[in-house]
Amino acid sequence: MVERLQTRCVIVGGGPAGMMAGYLLARAGVSVAVLEKHADFNRDFRGDTIHPSTLELMYELGLLDEFLKLPHQELRELRAVVNGQVVPAADFSKLPTHCKFIAFMPQWDFLNFLSSHAKRFPTFQLFMEAEVVDLLIEDSRVVGVRARTARGELEVRADLVIGADGRHSTVHTRAGLEQREFGVPIDVLWMRISKKQGDPKQTFGFFQHGKLVVLLDRDDYWQCGFVIPKGAFDEIKARGLKQFQNDLVSFAGFLRDRVAELDDWSKIKLLTVQVNRLREWSCEGLLCIGDSAHAMSPAGGVGINLAIQDAVATANLLAEKLQRGPVHVGDLRKVQARREWPTRLIQGMQIFIHRRIVTGQASGEERTSIPFVLRLLKWFPILRQIPARFIGMGPRPEHFHSPTAP
Ligand SMILES: Cc1cc2nc3c(=O)[nH]c(=O)nc-3n(C[C@H](O)[C@H](O)[C@H](O)COP(=O)(O)OP(=O)(O)OC[C@H]3O[C@@H](n4cnc5c(N)ncnc54)[C@H](O)[C@@H]3O)c2cc1C
Repeated sequence: MVERLQTRCVIVGGGPAGMMAGYLLARAGVSVAVLEKHADFNRDFRGDTIHPSTLELMYELGLLDEFLKLPHQELRELRAVVNGQVVPAADFSKLPTHCKFIAFMPQWDFLNFLSSHAKRFPTFQLFMEAEVVDLLIEDSRVVGVRARTARGELEVRADLVIGADGRHSTVHTRAGLEQREFGVPIDVLWMRISKKQGDPKQTFGFFQHGKLVVLLDRDDYWQCGFVIPKGAFDEIKARGLKQFQNDLVSFAGFLRDRVAELDDWSKIKLLTVQVNRLREWSCEGLLCIGDSAHAMSPAGGVGINLAIQDAVATANLLAEKLQRGPVHVGDLRKVQARREWPTRLIQGMQIFIHRRIVTGQASGEERTSIPFVLRLLKWFPILRQIPARFIGMGPRPEHFHSPTAP
């Protein structure tokens, strides 16, 4: 039997973009259903960064004090360890925001927080374990989605479908939206390593000879991201686990006494990295936001922030219209018009980082010393405000001004 539901807006995907858009639209009194394919938010393959601009939004929404009660670490200055030398890379202390730091918090805590607040609005519904498998299309207009749930099939009809289902988006594929791929020369190996007292504090990453390891502090363990050349995993496996463990220690020596925890390749997951962008983010009845519209690489740790900024722009531009009825494709295009250039700028920066810093294509001298850009940041502290602004707020930060429920 097919379960059927009618709502004003259905959002596919309960990641940062989908949950923030769902929260803001429900807050504006728009009836909204979020469909998330997993049973919970407890997955470890996401980044954990909550940026000053997102914290500012929490402040504007009146949620900041409660949010900051959740366990988190505050990073006021980003430091990189480059060929063994600590280099300050960004200083958030001068940002024009209430929180002058990046909060590191497991992303599932952030998403659970948003969903628990969204559920307080009567027009909000969240369906977990609901995987969208197709779009409903009538007279060339997207009119809803078909999902597989634990209870059977679910059909949701809506005036607007928002695709926030990440970089392997079913929504944009089914809608046939054309995508432009930008070559990415890296992938990431993702693994956990235990934490011990006396370990160094959170840093930006460990760079060595043009290569990079990132360690995210998850309270009782390190989430480790080892950047490798795309397609090199088989070669790394062929060299053996012992060699891989040694490689890791060469970046972060303090892991020496515990790399043996990585005693099986099943503990090391390969995450493929993509950078791409849709030419058109919308068509009649459908809008894509976040990674579904523009997949981001982990470089710079800004994809979550960008996804949230898209969600805020969506609510600011569409909530009032959705309160009254359906929206036209001309309205949907305004979201792309507002968010496309910040996306282009950040993706351009990510492609630059891939080429110059993390793939070993840096010049011979930079491979063994500190890259010139980082040296400038070391010599001139004032310059650290530039990456701080770029990473912490992003270009064109959005402020919440969508309406509340009438
Ligand atoms: C290895 C790696 C590390 C990263 N680290 C960082 C970092 O530290 N900081 C940072 O800012 N960015 C980081 N990024 C980028 C960041 O993860 C993304 O840019 C960000 O998550 C995009 O948010 P989103 O909500 O658009 O999509 P996602 O976070 O991908 O969320 C999409 C959601 O949709 C759900 N979904 C997918 N398909 C369906 C379907 N058919 N039906 C229903 N639900 C579906 C998924 O389960 C998921 O919950 C990293 C990326 C990678 C690859």
